[in-house]
Amino acid sequence: MSARLPAPDADSAPFWDGLEKGELRIPECRACGRQFFPPIPSCPRCGAAGPELRVVSGTGRVYSWVTIHLTLDPEFADDVPYTIVAVELDGGGRMLGRLIGDGLPAGEAEVAFAPYRSGDQLLPGFRLRSTEA
Ligand SMILES: [Zn+2]
Repeated sequence: MSARLPAPDADSAPFWDGLEKGELRIPECRACGRQFFPPIPSCPRCGAAGPELRVVSGTGRVYSWVTIHLTLDPEFADDVPYTIVAVELDGGGRMLGRLIGDGLPAGEAEVAFAPYRSGDQLLPGFRLRSTEA
């Protein structure tokens, strides 16, 4: 595994395990129901411990994005240009991921979860819903 890829810990390992199965697992607070990301031991809204992981569809809307043209990390040199999207998931929670496929988000573009492989590991990605096959 690359030193630059995520190193799962006790809180995030179930998320990464899900990704390998093609599932997007998002923590949901057992007390207030808020979904959030990244996985942490307690709810960022109410502080309740022990969130439950929910498998979600991964659909949502882009609220920001950036296209990388010059990477400072040689590991991604072959990937440029690439786009990172910040997504508001339909069920709640926000997360970042690589935009997969052609096209750029316009307005609050709708996206769907589309994990992609970098070396040995699957990473979170999203595809514009208008370009889904
Ligand atoms: Zn909560």
